[in-house]
Amino acid sequence: MPSDIEIARAATLKPIAEVAETLGIPDEALHNYGKHIAKLDHGFIAGLEGRPEGKLVLVTAISPTPAGEGKTTTTVGLGDALNRIGQKTMICLREPSLGPCFGMKGGAAGGGKAQVVPMEQINLHFTGDFHAITSAHSLAAALIDNHVYWANELNIDVRRIFWRRVVDMNDRALRQITQSLGGVANGFPREDGFDITVASEVMAVFCLAKNLEDLEERLGRIVIAETRDRKLVTLKDVKATGAMTVLLKDALQPNLVQTLEGNPALIHGGPFANIAHGCNSVIATRAGLRLADYTVTEAGFGADLGAEKFLDIKCRQAGISPSAVVIVATVRALKMHGGVNKKDLGAENIEALERGFANLARHVTNVRNFGLPVVVAVNHFYADTDAEHARLKELCSERLGVEAITCKHWADGGAGAEDLARAVVRLSEGGARPITYTYETESKLTDKIKAIATKLYGAADIQIESKAAQKLAAFEKEGYGNLPVCMAKTQYSFSTDPTLIGAPDGHIVGVRDVRLSAGAGFVVVICGEIMTMPGLPKVPAADTIRLDANGQIDGLF
Ligand code: ADP
Ligand code: MG
Repeated sequence: MPSDIEIARAATLKPIAEVAETLGIPDEALHNYGKHIAKLDHGFIAGLEGRPEGKLVLVTAISPTPAGEGKTTTTVGLGDALNRIGQKTMICLREPSLGPCFGMKGGAAGGGKAQVVPMEQINLHFTGDFHAITSAHSLAAALIDNHVYWANELNIDVRRIFWRRVVDMNDRALRQITQSLGGVANGFPREDGFDITVASEVMAVFCLAKNLEDLEERLGRIVIAETRDRKLVTLKDVKATGAMTVLLKDALQPNLVQTLEGNPALIHGGPFANIAHGCNSVIATRAGLRLADYTVTEAGFGADLGAEKFLDIKCRQAGISPSAVVIVATVRALKMHGGVNKKDLGAENIEALERGFANLARHVTNVRNFGLPVVVAVNHFYADTDAEHARLKELCSERLGVEAITCKHWADGGAGAEDLARAVVRLSEGGARPITYTYETESKLTDKIKAIATKLYGAADIQIESKAAQKLAAFEKEGYGNLPVCMAKTQYSFSTDPTLIGAPDGHIVGVRDVRLSAGAGFVVVICGEIMTMPGLPKVPAADTIRLDANGQIDGLF
C-alpha cells in the first residue's frame, strides 16, 4: 500500500466549484484559494439560517492507544460511503496544527483511501486561519503590555497577567520566558510564556462563535489579568476586540475542500482537545447541517473526553444534536487495552480482545446514557484476523446489543464503509435526539466535575486541591458558576492515570487546577499535567522534510 501522501498526490481533484455545486453552493459564495480550496462567504452562510437542518452524525472512539484508531479516517470513509449510497453528505473536520507536522510523523487529514485533499496544504498553511488566530492573539498581547507601558489606567497587576503568547510551532524553549528586558523603553519586565496556537482561547472562541458579532462579544468576555485590587480585566477593557475581529474576519469563513472521492468537506478551526473542546467550528457544522442531508463530524480523543465535550459544550451552546453516534474501535487497540504490547499486535489474541472489550463497552454505555443511538465501526487493519472481528461483533451484540460493523475504507475508500453508512441511516431515522446532558449548567461547578467523573469515568469521587477549590469558589462568586466544565485529563485512560487502560473504576479524579475561559464559555478543569506547548522529539520529522527534484514535498507523512 502506498503512503498517505502518495495516494493523496495521485488523486485527480475536481475544481472546487464543481464540488460546491453538488450541495447547491453557487459560485458567488466561493472565495477561491487556488483551484481546490475555497472559503464560503459570510453572506452565504448567514443566508442559510432558516433552512431545515439535515442529520448530524458524530464519530468518536475508544480510549486512544499507540496502536491507532482512525477517527478522522473513519469520518472521511463514512462521508464517502453515505454519498455513495445516495445521501448528500458533508464532512466536518478540524484544521490540523502546523507545528506537530515537524515533530512526530503524521498528518491529520485521514489516511489510506479515506483522505481529504489537497493534504499538503491542509496540513501546512492551508488558508492561513491559524496564522490569523496567532496574529489576533498576538495583537491582544501587544495591547495588554502597551496598556501597562503607557499609564496602566486599569491598574493591571503585571504579576497577574494570564494572557500568554502563542505561536503555531512545537517550541519548548518558549514555555516560560522573561520579557521586556533591556531598559525603560521596553516596558516592565515580567514573566510570560508561549502556548501553541491551537491552545489559544481565541481558537476556542473562533470555534464556538455563531457569527462575527458573537465572535466579537466572546472575545470581549475573555479574562486576561487581574488588577492590583484583584478585579478581573477582560479583552474588552483593553479595547482589543474590534481590531481582533477585523483580523479574524476572513478566517471565520469555513474552508471547503474535497475527499479523494470528490465529496465535500468543511475543514475549519482546530482547538486542542485538552484545555479546549476539540471540535471543528460551530459555523462549519451548522452550515453543513443546512447544506446536506447528513453532516459527519469528529471529536478529539476518546468518547469520555471528545464526545462528552462535543455534547455537553458544543451541542449545548450551538443548539444542535446528533441523530447517531459512531464509536470507532480497532481490534489492535482493544488488544492493547487487554494488555498486549504494541510489538505483539500482529498475532491473533482473542483473550486479550475480550479483556480489552471493557474499554469499548464503557464508551458505548456512556454515549447511550446521553440518549443517543450508537453503532461501532471496527476499523479494519491488515493484520486483523476474521476470528477476531467475528468475536468482537459477538461481544458487542451479546453484551451490549450494539451492532459492530467491519469497515475497510482505509483500504477501499467509501465502498469499504457502505455497511456502516446504511447502519447510520437506519439509526438516524428518528432525527436529532434530545441530549441527556451529563449535568445541568445551573449546578455548582464542583457538582458538574463530580457528575462527569462518576457517570463517565467510573470514578468513586473527585478530590479538588485547595488552590483549585479556592479558584472555583471565586469563579462562582464572580458569576461564572453556570458555565459548563471542560475536562483536561489524559486521553489514554478513563482515570487520570494514563497507565490504567481498559475500564478502571473506583478511582479518584484529582483536580489540580482550574482556569476560566469566559470567552469560550467554559471552566477548564485540569486533572494531572497538561501540555499547552509541545516540544519536538529527539529525531524530529523536520530532519527529513525537503523538496525533491520535482519540487514536491518529501518526508511529510
Ligand atoms: P485519529 O483521527 O483517531 O487520530 P486518524 O484517522 O488520523 O486517527 O489515523 C491515524 C493514522 O492511522 C493515519 O496515518 C492513518 O493513515 C492510519 N490508519 C487509520 N486507519 C487505518 C487502517 N485501517 N489501516 C492502516 N492504517 C490506518
Ligand atoms: Mg483525528
